Amino acid sequence: MYKEMQVLVGEALEAVVPALLTADLATLEQRVQHVGRVILGGLIERVAAGQAQGLPRPARCPACHGPLKRRERARPLVGLVGDYTLHRPYYWCAACKRGTAALDAALGLGPGEVSPGLARVVAGLDRRSAAERGQCPWAAVEATFTPAVDLVQEALGATLSDETVRRLAERIGATAEAQTQAAITRAKRGQPVWTEDAVERAEDTPILAVEVDGVLVHQEAGWHEMKVVTLAPLGPELHTDPDTGRTHLAWGEASDGVGAEEAEDCWWRVYVEAVRRGLGTPAVRTVVVLADGARWIWERARAFLGLPGVEVVEIADIYHAYSYLWAVGNALHGAGSLRAAAWVEPLKDQLYQHGATPVLTALAALRPTTAEAVQAIDDARTYFTRNAAHMDDPRFVARQLPIGSGAVESSCKCLVEARLTQAGMRWGIPGSQAIARLRALHRSGRWAAFWQTHPDQYRPPEDAASPTPPVPAVSRRHRGALCPRHVAMCRRACRRPARRATSQTHARSTSTAPAPLRLGELCCGAPLYQQIIDIDVSSDVR
Ligand SMILES: [Zn+2]
Repeated sequence: MYKEMQVLVGEALEAVVPALLTADLATLEQRVQHVGRVILGGLIERVAAGQAQGLPRPARCPACHGPLKRRERARPLVGLVGDYTLHRPYYWCAACKRGTAALDAALGLGPGEVSPGLARVVAGLDRRSAAERGQCPWAAVEATFTPAVDLVQEALGATLSDETVRRLAERIGATAEAQTQAAITRAKRGQPVWTEDAVERAEDTPILAVEVDGVLVHQEAGWHEMKVVTLAPLGPELHTDPDTGRTHLAWGEASDGVGAEEAEDCWWRVYVEAVRRGLGTPAVRTVVVLADGARWIWERARAFLGLPGVEVVEIADIYHAYSYLWAVGNALHGAGSLRAAAWVEPLKDQLYQHGATPVLTALAALRPTTAEAVQAIDDARTYFTRNAAHMDDPRFVARQLPIGSGAVESSCKCLVEARLTQAGMRWGIPGSQAIARLRALHRSGRWAAFWQTHPDQYRPPEDAASPTPPVPAVSRRHRGALCPRHVAMCRRACRRPARRATSQTHARSTSTAPAPLRLGELCCGAPLYQQIIDIDVSSDVR
């Protein structure tokens, strides 16, 4: 190999040295970088060929144990230090119509045309390029994949297409999402969700804050909501808001989750992330849920987070409540008018000091004369009535809890809006999910740990477009036999037939809105819930 490399280096230098003797330093560096890529690529090619020779020939197909046919196959790669082609034996099973290259496995090489080292650089570029501009790493991330391509070309001399970078980023993002889905599957089966090492406990505070919100993304099938969740320990340090002068327990290191999914699936995501932040251990005694008034949030918060011995405090974002007051004030007195402000401002103080009751009294006293005002008052009354329990601001303030959901709104902007809702963009759901998930990883400070799992080696199953396992359909028999809540649980969690509920049980469940179930709690008298999803979190986490 030494001889071969000597020849290669000699040839590479011979071709460029005359031109280098008259070049300025910028050109010199560029040309030498190119020569370096040729030489180092050649070195990797030869070392890999040596490795391939030492590998044993697989005797049989690992799937069907049938005979394997040996072929020689070349695989060109764009790498971190050079471009090269791996020449290696490839073993083909005619029965499975599938082949394997032992060298690829030995080298830890995943699918695609980019080497693992370069893949890591490319997937991380969003963050790096923004940080170089001295901005919040996520506030100004690029609108397209093109800047990543340019930066790789500029810094490493490696040439990639936009499409290659897109596929790579989406594949690695899909791997991150598959890891979350695997955790959710473990949670549904009642298995330990995370290893001991993966759990990030706060040592100095027993309070975990959870904020949930949604943001619309233009998908190929129309506008679709992505749900965003931000979690962080609260306190013991205090933070004083410079605008309002209010003091509350400060947010600790935050972590994010994001999914283009239905409410129930989002809550499983929240649950596994909360477990990762210490829920279910003695480290977390109180969970504070902060959100706007959206029903899908409050319907399930306690069911998913209220484990035995854990207090759940639900707080409606005060700024969202203000927006309802402004809608009424503007409708009554003219948008942006002084009279509108004179009506709104005292009520904001009342809400802060006494909760929703004085606001509802003030709304009831109004005698609107326009349809617009009638509507605004009606909306506000519904909102304040429905969320009155979540607006006990005097009590929350006394406990120094935050009453604004600014953290998750910032996550919505950084994770989703800054990247996915640029003008003219349309996304496939798996693509938007993968990119948003990758951004959440960066923002949660888990990038290095994620890369230790070798996400670039992940190959999605050949027959599945998305790494998320398909949702099994509910048979007619189940649909008729179970209350709606059971059908929902069955469809999402269960692969096995469910036991029939009695007609009496079914009738009771459907005649009133079903109360939120705690995980592991029994519904309808029969232990259906527990049997269906086969989970008993309360005994697992004790
Ligand atoms: Zn086979």
